Amino acid sequence: MVHLKSEREIERLRESADLVGRTLAEVARHVQPGATLKEIDAVAEEFIRTHDAEPAFKGYEVGGNVFPNTLCMSVNDVVVHGIPTDYALQEGDLLSVDCGAKLNGYFGDYAYTFAVGDISDEDAALCRTTYEALHKGIEQAVDGRRIGDISHAVQSHCEAQGYGVVRDLVGHGIGQSLHEDPQVPNFGEAGTGRRLKPGLTMCIEPMINRGTSEITTDADGWTVRAADGLPSAHYEHMVVVREEEAEILSTFDYIEDVTHPPYERNALKETPTR
Ligand code: MG
Ligand code: MG
Repeated sequence: MVHLKSEREIERLRESADLVGRTLAEVARHVQPGATLKEIDAVAEEFIRTHDAEPAFKGYEVGGNVFPNTLCMSVNDVVVHGIPTDYALQEGDLLSVDCGAKLNGYFGDYAYTFAVGDISDEDAALCRTTYEALHKGIEQAVDGRRIGDISHAVQSHCEAQGYGVVRDLVGHGIGQSLHEDPQVPNFGEAGTGRRLKPGLTMCIEPMINRGTSEITTDADGWTVRAADGLPSAHYEHMVVVREEEAEILSTFDYIEDVTHPPYERNALKETPTR
């Protein structure tokens, strides 16, 4: 069942999204070679709790597996749901960080892929295409379009670049539950699926692989990897369907005040030095 939100509820979601964004900015300050995933996770948990909120993923259970941390931290070939460990980040890593928080009964949930130091041109291009695909999906989140329009926009943009679009994991509605109806796949046919109505709030979150779309899951029950071991990127926004133009409730601005987006790094590199 899909619950369309009132403006009051949307404001609550905007507040939750804002906290997640500011938490991700704290993460951005710590993403550098030598930092361990657990250290960064602890910073995020502390930040969320000192702002009268709770981490949304810590204790989240699927099929008897309980997620143990605040952030999902997914390095290189890990697509999503990576568990923070003592791994120390290395120059050239891609780090996808997904953050969820519950504030005043409403959830925030969004994700950003960071570059650790200088990354390869191939990985920067992957980040750029994934980011672009997210926005192409968001453009479709308007009154009268269908879920399949979002899915198709994401899929076609990424497959045109030869990338693998993960099919087994999807975006979702969000509100007083972390995961609500409808599901928002990153692949599908335009003009199909549920018709979108104003007040529908959802997370659009392309998970895009440099190689195969196939994934595997580690024995921990969480860590999802690209089956061919090639890197993966993940950007997620929280949006509300509006009559004319989708409204994005989340923001990458706090993050990008701290760090250059990975998808702009190559452009920066090409700037002639004086
Ligand atoms: Mg999500
Ligand atoms: Mg998420």
